[in-house]
Amino acid sequence: MDKLEFKERYLDSIKKGTIDLEFIFLIIEEEIKKNNLEEYIRKITYYEETGNCLGTYDSESKTINIDPKLLNVQSYNMENHIVNNVQNIFSKLLNTIYHEIIHAKQEKMFHKYNSYYCKLHDFKNLDKEQLDELVIIHSLGITLRHSEKDYDNLHNLFPCEREANFLAAYKVTNLECEYDLYTKKEELEKLKYLTKILVADYKKNILGRIECPFEKLLNNKMNKEIVDFIVGNKLDNYQRFIYGLPIDREYFDEIISLKNFPKQLVLKQTRLEDLEKILTKKNK
Ligand SMILES: [Zn+2]
Repeated sequence: MDKLEFKERYLDSIKKGTIDLEFIFLIIEEEIKKNNLEEYIRKITYYEETGNCLGTYDSESKTINIDPKLLNVQSYNMENHIVNNVQNIFSKLLNTIYHEIIHAKQEKMFHKYNSYYCKLHDFKNLDKEQLDELVIIHSLGITLRHSEKDYDNLHNLFPCEREANFLAAYKVTNLECEYDLYTKKEELEKLKYLTKILVADYKKNILGRIECPFEKLLNNKMNKEIVDFIVGNKLDNYQRFIYGLPIDREYFDEIISLKNFPKQLVLKQTRLEDLEKILTKKNK
């Protein structure tokens, strides 16, 4: 499916007011191919109600399940009192799909960790890229050191969920901006929303210190050496934000100012790329 076909099918689904299941399947298939996820996504189902999260990825059976209510535009509209807003539901559906695909990618990274990094006893010879990857793997692995109950309660604090939440929303917003589906005002709202996801669960305390989501996950089951390794990492600020790790105050203030008053964005009459530029600015 080339870019043009993607766009046509996308806009067609919205115009017709129905979700094109074949198109959904093609999107997933394409992501599987692009990321070599054949072994990590074997089945896509649409039968299980999944509550608020609208989708699940089961790493045992390698199955992505999409909540069927997302596929039924009419009943979803009635249930959520959204009238005539196929685009909104379609966004949610795509967001759910990309979110679950990101979980499959994370699973693939773990696999690599098990077969490669755990055989290493000395990290001195790793280059920057490998070290970054190792930090990310350890961050994502935090999930494994919590119970299922914890997981439900602390859900959005986990690096794997933060990554899936942000990257999926980012991808969908990017597509929709590209297809001119938003007015200028809506586009800004979307940018604000993306920034909001990024800063979720970060807080500046009275003393001006930035509290991060990662701190709230620390428990006595976690190896201190690994925690130190994660915190003392050399990931850039953008990546640290995604995983909920400690962040520079200056950078935090810059992002927060975007959330509350996206003046820079308005003044420059800019689009997503500018947000991207600010986000990916390397550490000073
Ligand atoms: Zn998730």
